[in-house]
Amino acid sequence: ETDLNALANEYMRLAYHGLRAKDQSFNTALITRFDEKLHKMKVVPQEIGRVFLNLFNNAFYAVQQKQRQSGPEYKPEVRVSTRQLSDKVEVRVHDNGTGIGEKVKEKLFQPFFTTKPCGQGTGLGLSLSYDIITKGHGGKLQVESQEGEYTEFIIQLSIKKSGR
Ligand code: ADP
Ligand code: MG
Repeated sequence: ETDLNALANEYMRLAYHGLRAKDQSFNTALITRFDEKLHKMKVVPQEIGRVFLNLFNNAFYAVQQKQRQSGPEYKPEVRVSTRQLSDKVEVRVHDNGTGIGEKVKEKLFQPFFTTKPCGQGTGLGLSLSYDIITKGHGGKLQVESQEGEYTEFIIQLSIKKSGR
């Protein structure tokens, strides 16, 4: 029985501190909005943690890229929120970074697809995350994005199907 609020919070901070250790000038607001009524879920915590780590690493990378392209008026933000719905729980990871263009969006979940320079991305994070959520936990992983504005990944796990 896993508390996804605590797990998401833990991995957000883990990813942030990992990045800060390499680049101390990197800074972003971390915003959390957790639904206190969120059901505990029968998931494999290491696997869902892996998904969170991938999503947060991508989000931090995207705001870092945008920060490099923008002036001091840009305020980077990475947000995580959870919501209890009637038959499922939802986790959203949001960033106001570079966003994703239509061409990239089509290939997002393909293994080895990356737009990152050599050595900085394997292109496996999202394909692995997709498999963990869909095949491993019977859930859904979707993306909403506007290029130059924001990206939001939405995880939905059904309360009945969440076990394996
Ligand atoms: P990697 O991070 O190794 O490149 P991923 O599978 O995690 O591989 O992501 C694939 C690609 O999807 C990234 O290279 C990037 O182009 C795009 N992407 C993923 N998350 C974001 C995000 N939050 N903002 C902008 N682009 C993203
Ligand atoms: Mg990644």
